[in-house]
Amino acid sequence: MLSYQHAYHAGNFADVHKHLTLFAVIDHLLRKASPITYIDTHAGRGLYPLAAEETARLQEYQDGVVRLWQARNRLSETPLLGEWLSALGRVQDQDNRLDYYPGSPWWLSDRLRQQDSLKLIELHPVEHGHLMQQSLPSNVQRLHGDGLKELDRRLPVKTPRLCVLIDPSYERKDEYDEVARTAIKAMAKVRHAVLLIWYPLLPSGRHRELLDALRTGGLRKVWRSELIRPASLGQQHGMQGSGMLVINPPWGLEERLVTAMSAITLLLGEAVRYQHDWWVVE
Ligand code: SAM
Repeated sequence: MLSYQHAYHAGNFADVHKHLTLFAVIDHLLRKASPITYIDTHAGRGLYPLAAEETARLQEYQDGVVRLWQARNRLSETPLLGEWLSALGRVQDQDNRLDYYPGSPWWLSDRLRQQDSLKLIELHPVEHGHLMQQSLPSNVQRLHGDGLKELDRRLPVKTPRLCVLIDPSYERKDEYDEVARTAIKAMAKVRHAVLLIWYPLLPSGRHRELLDALRTGGLRKVWRSELIRPASLGQQHGMQGSGMLVINPPWGLEERLVTAMSAITLLLGEAVRYQHDWWVVE
C-alpha cells in the first residue's frame, strides 16, 4: 500500500519539528571534519512547490512553516532558527516569497561536504521519479527501493560516521515494529551512529509500540521530543502531534533544540506544547 504522498502535508508543523531537529543534528556533526554517510530511508520528493495542486489543497504549511517565515526577522537572532530560516530562504526564487518547502533530501544535501555521502531511498515510483528530477550534488545517490531493507543491507558503512533519518508514512500497523527492529539492528552494526526516527502521535497511540520496542531492545541514549497539537487544530486525520527520537544525540543538541522549539511553539498555535525527555537513559 503506497497511497501516502508527502506533498499533501509539506511544510506542516510536523515537518518543521522534524527538519529543525535534522538541521540541528547536521549542524553538530559538521563540527568535525571526518566523513559522514547520511542515509534517508524514506526520502519523498525532495522539494515541494507550495502552489502545487496537492500541497495547496490542504495548505497545512499555513499552520507550519508560514508562521515561522512571517516571523523570520524576529526569529533571526534565535540560535538555530536564524540559520534554519536563512537556509529556507536559499531555496526560494525570490527573496521575500515562500514558494517552496524543502524535504529531507534537500536539508541533508544542502550542507553536504565533499568528504560526505548521502543515500536517498524512496519506494514510491512517482515520488522517486520526482526525486530524480532534483538537481543534487554528485555525492548523492538516489535509490528506488524499500528504505528499511536497504538500510540494513548497506550497514556498516565505510565512513567513520553515520547519520540516518527514518521517516516512514506508517501506513501499515507493522511499520512501528519494523522501524524499531531495524533501528536496533542498525545500532548493533554501527554503535556510534546517530539515528533520527520520526513518528506521528495518533489517537490509537500506536507509536508506543515503537518506543517500548526500542527500550526493550537494549538501546541507550535515546532523546525524545514531541510537538503536541490538539487534533481540532489539525487537518491530518486526527494527528495529535509529531514525535522525534534521536538515538545517540550529539552533545549539546538538546539545549539548542529546546531553545529553538520553545521560541516557536506558541507561534504554531496557542494550544501547542513541546515536551522532551530521555526515553532511555544511560
Ligand atoms: N522524509 C521526507 C521529508 O522529510 O521530506 C518525507 C517522507 S514521507 C513522510 C514518507 C515517504 O516514504 C513517502 O514518500 C513514501 O512514498 C515513502 N515510502 C513508503 N514506504 C516506503 C518504503 N517501504 N521504503 C521507502 N520509502 C517508502
